[in-house]
Amino acid sequence: MSGVGEARTVYRTCPLCEATCGLELTVRDGEVLRIRGDRDDVFSRGFICPKGSVLGQLHADPDRLRAPLVRRYGRQEEVSWDEAWRVVAEGLGGAVARHGRERLAVYLGNPNAHNLSPLLYNRTWVRALRTRQRYSASSVDQLPKQLASGWMFGSPTAVAVPDLDRTDYLLILGANPMASNGSLCTAPDFPGRLRAIRGRGGRVVVVDPARTRTADEADEWVAIRPGTDALLLAAIVRELVVTGRADPGDHLRAHVSGMDDLAVALAPFGADTVSAATGVSAATIRRLAVELAEAPSAAVYGRMGTTTVAFGTTASWLVDVLNVVTGNLDRAGGAMFPLPATGGPTTRGESGRGEGFRTGRSRSVVRGFPEILGEYPAALMAEEIEHDGGVRALVTVAGNPVLSTPNGARLSAAFGRLDFMVSVDPYLNETTRHADVILPPPSHLERSHYDLVFTGFSVRNTANYSPPVFERAEGQPDEWEILLRIGAIVGGIDMEPSAIDDAVLRGAVESMCGDASSPVHGRDPGEIVSALEPRRGPERMLDLLLRTGPYGDGFGASPGGLTLAALEAAPHGVDLGPLQPRMPGMLRTQSGTIELAPQQLLADLPRLRALVDAPVPPLVLVGRRHLRSNNSWMHNVASLVRGRPRCTLQVHPDDAASCGVRDGDSARVASRVGEVVARVEVTDAVSRGVVSLPHGWGHDVDGVRLGVAREFAGVNSNLLTDEEQMDPLSGNAVLNGIPVTVAPAG
Ligand code: SF4
Repeated sequence: MSGVGEARTVYRTCPLCEATCGLELTVRDGEVLRIRGDRDDVFSRGFICPKGSVLGQLHADPDRLRAPLVRRYGRQEEVSWDEAWRVVAEGLGGAVARHGRERLAVYLGNPNAHNLSPLLYNRTWVRALRTRQRYSASSVDQLPKQLASGWMFGSPTAVAVPDLDRTDYLLILGANPMASNGSLCTAPDFPGRLRAIRGRGGRVVVVDPARTRTADEADEWVAIRPGTDALLLAAIVRELVVTGRADPGDHLRAHVSGMDDLAVALAPFGADTVSAATGVSAATIRRLAVELAEAPSAAVYGRMGTTTVAFGTTASWLVDVLNVVTGNLDRAGGAMFPLPATGGPTTRGESGRGEGFRTGRSRSVVRGFPEILGEYPAALMAEEIEHDGGVRALVTVAGNPVLSTPNGARLSAAFGRLDFMVSVDPYLNETTRHADVILPPPSHLERSHYDLVFTGFSVRNTANYSPPVFERAEGQPDEWEILLRIGAIVGGIDMEPSAIDDAVLRGAVESMCGDASSPVHGRDPGEIVSALEPRRGPERMLDLLLRTGPYGDGFGASPGGLTLAALEAAPHGVDLGPLQPRMPGMLRTQSGTIELAPQQLLADLPRLRALVDAPVPPLVLVGRRHLRSNNSWMHNVASLVRGRPRCTLQVHPDDAASCGVRDGDSARVASRVGEVVARVEVTDAVSRGVVSLPHGWGHDVDGVRLGVAREFAGVNSNLLTDEEQMDPLSGNAVLNGIPVTVAPAG
């Protein structure tokens, strides 16, 4: 008689968003019985949102692929892994042999940032492809912030986060953490931390074209015209300069350069000058400047509404300029730099100085756009495929760019022209339906987890490792093995993934042993490799990073220091304390200073000044977030999509009247590149002249295997966003502020 197994309790960091909440799972016989917040988690203290409780449903989702799919006679059919690899070798290998490596492209989606295997091995296998045609979700998201950080601090990973738990004043621009749970600011229970600011007598101000849930919770909502945050920020900085309040503070003054150049460059951005264009009164701009300067501590934080616009890099730069000139960068309660346990570019190498940040080592074929962080903007992908001599083969990993990048219709058509496409993805979705082969990774619960990226954006330094909850199904390779095998096939490397892993690990250890800043400098690499036995794969690499990181045991150099074994013994995580000042040691600029006035950004200011006099479109589209949704990847979970329709077009009552649409009507929304028919929600939560649609929807296309999502399809807002509109500095897509018309659908 087959018995029922014992229920057991396991702890795990939620991998679904940037908040990194600790979860407590009750499981039995490969099934999740219950999920709740882990009350003992050192960081999240029991907080959980509706998404975190559906990990079991994602694991059990019948639409989640358990075997590879190969396209045959127009249909994608299940095959064995051996057969899938044979087709990949023939298809990808053949495409590269026929067309050359530069006609092979790779696209990495957002979930890569939440997944240990790709984070540790993407560099290796993508490099093995030897193509410059690289794209990712970064250029529809945070790339402008990284570019600005690269120019100011010398490293694109040097992203300052608001010290939420100690600040007295928080100015939020274009972010809705009550719905998103925070981004580029890892803070489980962001809502509770926001309320705590007000609870201790602090003040929260939200600048946004929409009265979001976060704006509702704040002391003040400042409505702004979409895409004009850079003007507002420039005017606040300029106000601080002309009133003599701009001062980086005693702790930072000696480490800042460019104050005088900055003052001159921002002279044309007076509060009265920018008021009409931003929709923010000059009096409010001046008051915000005074409040920021006089608060005991203050932090300025900008997110999607500031980065996915035509001035994304400029706005991102000015956010940190404001943090510097109010004396709030790198001090408690201000904007601070996390110190992740695995270290990173700002902990390695010479302290306080570096090579600076470079871009443009190659250029895209059609528009000649420079590479940034080794990739081209996702908005260019369609044109790089379409032209004669363009991309002929593509590998996507955990990405759905048809729904998440501009002009999805054009991109979808371009994918249809490829000779061969491979997707590493758990779903047959709007993008992977074009693939010749889909290789499914293990489920979230069948793989280990450590937040390599988000510990770098965290409002408190912590470390938390989660082993797999369930064993992988027989024959199912781990994701790092899938990725390394693709790299080996295309790169012509006759090695098994395990042997490549050995070689990569050995290379990393040798590099550390030769790095004067490493705790293992001068040691025998063989000794370090032996000390990591018997681990393999991501765990071995993670152990190496932890032990050589800022809190690590240094392989004996710092007894009692952090190791992966220590994290395994601490299922609720390890608290490494509040953020600490890191200047000037973390700087990697050539000058060894915070560069307040990078030439690239000063050169862009005339374009920003021209925005003051630019014509204002009658109606522009912006995006929005919802707590129960996360980009395109959680719409196949019934408990998250049921209830009131969420993919609605929000329209201000005055605009609804002038467009002739009413609440509940269907409206035709049209832009330069396309149109959709969406259900209208009339609300004064959006400003006049602004309509709002969430992104990641539009699941009603043929060939998709998403039973629930299809039922709650919604519309794809990226049929309206325009691939010609980019931030010219970063190439980031403009997803907010798209001119549209709205009319009854007939
Ligand atoms: S807030 Fe994010 S990390 Fe926390 S439970 Fe929800 S989805 Fe998971």
